[in-house]
Formats: sequence, C-alpha cells, structure tokens
Amino acid sequence: VSEPAPQPDARELTRSVLQACTGTHGFALAGVCSVEPSAWGGEFAAWLAAGKHGSMDYLQNNIETRLDPARMLDGVRAAVVVGDLYATRADNEDAPLRNGEGRIARYARGRDYHKVIKKRLHALADSLAASHEGHTFRAAVDTAPVLERELAARAGIGWTGKHTLMIHPREGSYTLLGVLLTTLDLEPEATPMADHCGTCTRCIEACPTNAITPYSVDGSRCISYLTIEHRERIEPGLHEGIGAWLYGCDICQEVCPHNSLREEPGAGVYEAYTARRDRFDLLEILGWDEDARRDAFISSAMKRATLAMMKRNAVIVLGNQMRREPDAAVLDRLRAVAADENEPELVRGAARDVLED
Ligand code: SF4
Ligand code: SF4
Repeated sequence: VSEPAPQPDARELTRSVLQACTGTHGFALAGVCSVEPSAWGGEFAAWLAAGKHGSMDYLQNNIETRLDPARMLDGVRAAVVVGDLYATRADNEDAPLRNGEGRIARYARGRDYHKVIKKRLHALADSLAASHEGHTFRAAVDTAPVLERELAARAGIGWTGKHTLMIHPREGSYTLLGVLLTTLDLEPEATPMADHCGTCTRCIEACPTNAITPYSVDGSRCISYLTIEHRERIEPGLHEGIGAWLYGCDICQEVCPHNSLREEPGAGVYEAYTARRDRFDLLEILGWDEDARRDAFISSAMKRATLAMMKRNAVIVLGNQMRREPDAAVLDRLRAVAADENEPELVRGAARDVLED
C-alpha cells in the first residue's frame, strides 16, 4: 500500500524549515523524520539488563518516553533533527602533551553545546510559532530522553556507526545533535541513511578498554563514561587504558575513516565550539577548590564532572604518566593526596590505587 502523497504545503514548509536550520540558525546538518517508537527497544533493554549503562541510573528512567518520543509532545507530527560540526579530521592532530597535562575530548573544548544548540532551536520554534498559530514545539538536546541518533538516521542525516555515534557520510562523527519535536505537518525524509561501516573494525580495535562490540558500547568500560559520568571509584584494571584522557575520549572517532576530509583545522565547525583549550595541568587541578573549578568551566560542558571526579581523573592520568616516566615530585604529591583528610574518599582512594599499582 503506497503512502498518500504529501501535501504540497507540507513539502514547501519542510523546505523552508530546513533552509532556516542551515541558513539563519547555522546548523551544518538538518533533516526531518516522522515520530515513531524506536526500533531498538529490545536492544536497549538488553543493554540495560547487562549493566552496560554502568552507574548511569538515569537511563533506566523514562524508558517508555525514550523509546517513543511521541510521548514528549501532545499531537506531535514530526521531528526536525539538526547537527553542528565541532571538529574535523584535521583537528585530530593536537600538539603533543607534556608530562603533567591531561587531554579533553574535542566536544568539550568550546562552549557548552546544550546551550548553543537549544538557544537556536528555541529561536527556530519561536519564529515558526509566530507564523503557525496553535502549533507547539519541544526542543531536546541530549538531556531529554530522546534517542537522537536513531532519529538522525531516519531523517537521512547519518548512520549509527559500530562505535554507536552518528556518522554523516561527508562530515563524519564529530557532530552534536538536537531535536525539535513539532505538531507541524512536515514531510519526513523518505530514505533513512544506510549503514556505511561495512567490514571496517578500526574503532573496535583501537578502543583502549575494549568497550566496543559492534553497535554497542559497554558504558562501564568506556573512558568517556568513566571520566564524565561515573561518580565512583574507577577500577584500577581500567586505569592504564585511560592514558592521558582527563575528560572524555575521542579515540574511536580519531580512527574512523569517515571523519570529515576537510583539510583545514576547524573548517565548517560552528564558531561556538572553537577550542578554547585542549588540555589542563593536572597538578593545578589537584589544587582546585570549588571556585577554581567553576571559574575553569565557565560556559563549558565540562561542568558535568564534579570537583572530586576531576581530581580522581587527574590522579589516574598522573599515575599513567608515572608508569612511563617516574617523577619524585609527582610521587610526593600523590602520597600527599592519599593522606589528605580534607580530600573526599573518591580522590584519596584513587591516589592509593595508583600508588599501589
Ligand atoms: S570513547 Fe574511547 S573508551 Fe569509549 S568506546 Fe570510544 S575509544 Fe572506547
Ligand atoms: S571506525 Fe569503522 S567500524 Fe568504526 S564507526 Fe568508523 S567506519 Fe564504522
């Protein structure tokens, strides 16, 4: 049974919405899809049941909504999916780290993407609401229970790679997604994006903690999760794999052959994500108090990590550097942290783990 042809006005409206996304609002990617329940409900339940969400208990909340975004907005007819580019393959080459420095994942080097994307989605919603009375909108960026990557594939923007991140065929995976649900009658993309991973296994082989099985990441082993989400002790067996990653990890994206071939670093990257810094001094972090952390993370997505988590991560990265190059001053500092009763157990325990290793 063939679908009824879309109304010409739906097609025209869709075209103008997508033009507004990529024009006025500056998104690199934009598409429209219908709002149907997720096709991945069984896989998501199995992933949770296997404990691969680690301590991200919030993923167990609102499961029905997460698997059926239509529950988020009464009368929803379509989802506008948008994406910003925050890095290209040319940005893979960071200046070498010196001892005592820890690396930040690329998405967190500029301004907080939640705010950067939401502000423009709200502006888009306001302008559409002004010209389409009675219609409603709801923006979601990462924090709301929406499976953006599945919607992005349906909207023809990109496919979900074996590392579970969305990949656009030309722009790659250094992208950040947002979704605007709407009651407007828009014409959904007819052809979902096909999977182009093929026989490639580069990300699986490169992952230092063996967190990736095709199309599934074990959150409880992933460095991004461990350094950003996990608020408890990081098992010493995972320390070495963390390497120099103080906050997040980009390795599975660095090795992906689909990352943007733009040759100029920063080409096509939305201005707000221009890197302000790509590293922190680890001993400096060990000296931070709450005010210092707040100052360092102003308008950054890094404020997701607490002070204790940042110190724990800094201790682990220092420990990894000590494996390569023992340093008496760092050793003394780690001993002092382990004995410092003013530090939370998360930090002191990490220092003990590193010293005992
Ligand atoms: S972010 Fe790092 S640790 Fe996580 S799956 Fe990718 S390579 Fe592995
Ligand atoms: S590295 Fe290869 S397998 Fe992994 S996401 Fe990229 S194309 Fe897919």
